[in-house]
Amino acid sequence: MIQEVPVLQVPTICIADSTARFPVRRIFCVGQNYAAHAREMGSDPNRRPPFFFCKPSDAVVASGLRLPYPPMTSDLQHEVELVIALGEGGADIAPHDVPALIFGHAVGIDLTRRDLQAEAKKAGRPWDMSKGFDRSAPIGPLRKGPPPGAGPISLAVDGETRQRGDLGDMIWSVPDIVSCLSAYVAVAAGDLIFTGTPAGVGPIHRGQEVRGRIAGVEDIVVTFE
Ligand code: MN
Repeated sequence: MIQEVPVLQVPTICIADSTARFPVRRIFCVGQNYAAHAREMGSDPNRRPPFFFCKPSDAVVASGLRLPYPPMTSDLQHEVELVIALGEGGADIAPHDVPALIFGHAVGIDLTRRDLQAEAKKAGRPWDMSKGFDRSAPIGPLRKGPPPGAGPISLAVDGETRQRGDLGDMIWSVPDIVSCLSAYVAVAAGDLIFTGTPAGVGPIHRGQEVRGRIAGVEDIVVTFE
């Protein structure tokens, strides 16, 4: 029997050009925030309010690592996304107040066990096990400051481009997303927000290298064993 109270460590992510690390409090994700991706998932991309799901904070993974192919799936898929890191938070935040709360931004991959997600959708069950599994949130180094409102975002598997989009094509902008999220829950310093993926999501096979890119930040690269 274990007698000692366990000591937990706060997960952290890398900050570009700094030896400091960013502590991760919570990870929020937005579903279907680019019209072409909403269509490829069988939805109508009208301006319904954004919807959110979460990943555990210890799902973060640094760039450059080899990852085990996750268990309980035969359809691991990539979703490249702009990630926002909050340096301050609040509740019921107005969109125009959001940029001042942003610590930095990065490119991340919302890894998804698509087969489990499809089963969950069909059964009306939660997405936690399809989205919030171990090592499901690879994120590149944070660049300080708010993200650009437009610019290319892409993902390549073994050097072949699979996803391509523009940050300017988001249905909901970063200020809209954080404002809406803060109506549901108080957000705080340390929160990361995945802002949705452009079209072209697809499978990752064992042995493949996945590289996500946003202009102005370092790439996120992970390889699956
Ligand atoms: Mn996503």
